[in-house]
Amino acid sequence: MRCLYAGVSMLKSIELNGFKSFGRKTSLVFTEKIAGVVGPNGSGKSNVAEGFRFVLGEQSMKAMRTKRGEDLIWGGSPALPRMNRASVKVVFDNSKRLLDIDFSEVTIERVVYRDGQNEYLLNGTQVRLKDVIRLLAGANIGGSGYQIISQGEADRILTASPKERREMIEDALGLKLYQHKKVESERKLEETAVNLEKTRSLRREIAPHLKFLRDQVEKIEKAREMKDELAHTLRDYLLREDARIKADTTLSKGDMQEVVDALRETENQLKLLQAAKTETISPREQELSVQMTEQSTALQKIRELRSSLSRDLGRAEGALMANTITVEQVVSAPHVRQFAHEIDETLATLESGSDAATVQRVILALRARIQSFIDGLTGVAPVTNHEAELAVKELAKKLEDATAEEARVIALGNALRSELSQEREKRFERERDSVTVESKVRELQSRLSSFRRVEDELTARRERFENEVREGIALVGTALSGWNTGEIPQDALSEEQFAQDKRRRAIERLKIKIEEAGIGGSEEVIREYTHTKERDEFLAKEIVDLEASAEKLKDLIAELEKTMDQKFTEGLHKINDALGHFFSKLFNGGMAKLEVETPVRKKRTDDEEIEEVPEEEELYAGLSVSVQLPRKKVTGLEILSGGERALTSIALIFSMSQVNPPPFLILDETDAALDEANSKRYADMIRELGQKSQLIFITHNRATMAAGGELYGVTMGHDGVSQILSVKLEEAVKVAK
Ligand code: ATP
Repeated sequence: MRCLYAGVSMLKSIELNGFKSFGRKTSLVFTEKIAGVVGPNGSGKSNVAEGFRFVLGEQSMKAMRTKRGEDLIWGGSPALPRMNRASVKVVFDNSKRLLDIDFSEVTIERVVYRDGQNEYLLNGTQVRLKDVIRLLAGANIGGSGYQIISQGEADRILTASPKERREMIEDALGLKLYQHKKVESERKLEETAVNLEKTRSLRREIAPHLKFLRDQVEKIEKAREMKDELAHTLRDYLLREDARIKADTTLSKGDMQEVVDALRETENQLKLLQAAKTETISPREQELSVQMTEQSTALQKIRELRSSLSRDLGRAEGALMANTITVEQVVSAPHVRQFAHEIDETLATLESGSDAATVQRVILALRARIQSFIDGLTGVAPVTNHEAELAVKELAKKLEDATAEEARVIALGNALRSELSQEREKRFERERDSVTVESKVRELQSRLSSFRRVEDELTARRERFENEVREGIALVGTALSGWNTGEIPQDALSEEQFAQDKRRRAIERLKIKIEEAGIGGSEEVIREYTHTKERDEFLAKEIVDLEASAEKLKDLIAELEKTMDQKFTEGLHKINDALGHFFSKLFNGGMAKLEVETPVRKKRTDDEEIEEVPEEEELYAGLSVSVQLPRKKVTGLEILSGGERALTSIALIFSMSQVNPPPFLILDETDAALDEANSKRYADMIRELGQKSQLIFITHNRATMAAGGELYGVTMGHDGVSQILSVKLEEAVKVAK
């Protein structure tokens, strides 16, 4: 095996200050590959070895033979007061970069204070313990401590449990670094598992909320779709409805205006007619009636006059014919004819349909006429003819006038009757007109009131429409703004009303659905959903990442285990080879071997007996040591004497160091139990080992001292403080005593 440390003294010096018996700052500088520390009992040699343990990060107080950190600090003596801190500093030559740090010299210092506080300094800079341990492990330093074999601990590797022994072997094989990596990876894996579980649990926790929010958002989206649909339908509906209402309003207004105008005119007409109707009989008709009555009276009078004159004329003519003759003798035929004619005419007036009063009056007149005719028959005859002639003439003249007057009065009566009849006809005409106009007014009023109803309906439609606009805007908001600027559909006025009704029903259905969806504060819900979704996605990604890194870590662990397994098997084989060599060298024959145990587990059986059951494969298998001494039949560690145990331990320690040489080994009186012959063999082995590792041994043994390239003597003065001085072999022998 190639030895990295060949020819290198990695350990340059150690400085102890206030550490245990080193009450004053003391240094050991190593210039040779093998250095020996000698001195009398109790001088402080082991404290030097413990100084190494301490500075390399030992945490076990027991390993440093103390109970508390405070005990590591110089406790004081009458000559030198106690100190408050203890420090140990080692200086490594790192010119070959055995320590993974870019300095050719590396100083590691550890300080402990009375309160138990520790400080670690790397090249003067404070660092953490684990930084120190990691740095040293990289150079195969530290670990189970087989590198520093304390006094009386030489056979520790034999007394150790198989498990501890295996750890020491692994350490010696340089598997510590892999183990650190494995432990680190396992820790990370554990952390990853914890984080994974935490993340999964977080994801599980938000899952119901996320689902709830997703459902809400789906509802919101549906409601939004419905709102879009509503806005679309509403726009179409409103444009059409507006157009229809406007058209109907214009139409109705035009028609209604016509009716209003016609009605106004007809009502005026009616007023006029009704005013006329209040007169019933016109003044002219009244006047004509009066004139008719007067004419009738005048006719009556003139007839009476004419009748009287006619009688008088008859009498006068009779007297003229026979002055002595009695009237009865002289009644002439014309006179009688005249009388008959009058009677006939008077009766004729009755025939023309007179009323009862007239008939009565005519009867009275007839009687009077008849009486006067009779009276005329008994009258006295005129005195003379002349007188009689004059009288006849005069009477004839009067009669003629009266007749003419009668004719005039009759003519007047006819004229009046005719005019009266015309007046009456006019009155009837007016009455008929009035009825016609009244019915027209009624018809117009009925039309007007139907127009008013239409107008009311239009007002109601307009109001409802405006409400629909307001509600629409409230529901769909800006999506409806500017609806009235849209293009009016071509069939807006031509389509059937039911099409609009259908749209209105659709709008109502949508409104109800949106209301049922009942999504308030939707923006907030969407924001929360987005946030929660992002968080869930983040967690999901985190889980994927964590699973991936867990897989990677598992792979790494498996890889590390494989490497360690391989290196362990190979290393164990080599150690066993070296062990065989050293053992037979020390014992002059015989054999020793490290064997991997089958892992077992203790199990309690039903009858309370303890049974050993093989563990599962992956369980950590310890290492047992089997020895076969030359010329002895019995085998096993138990049969070894104290010296034999020490020799076996030394063989084992040296084998381990051979296979994977550590940069340095510190052996504190490992040779204590050896006899002279074995001490010599031990010294030879020291020399052999010194080829590969730097060695610092503590011994009382001369043969061993002789193997040291340089020797330091440790003494303790009366002040109780350990001191160090470089000595030659002969001095060393003296000092050791
Ligand atoms: P031996 O040869 O018998 O093994 P040694 O040289 O190895 O002896 P150490 O065990 O190193 O001796 O030193 C022991 C001495 O150190 C004791 O005298 C002890 O009192 C002293 N000592 C230990 N701790 C302290 C301390 N904290 N303060 C002062 N002295 C201490």
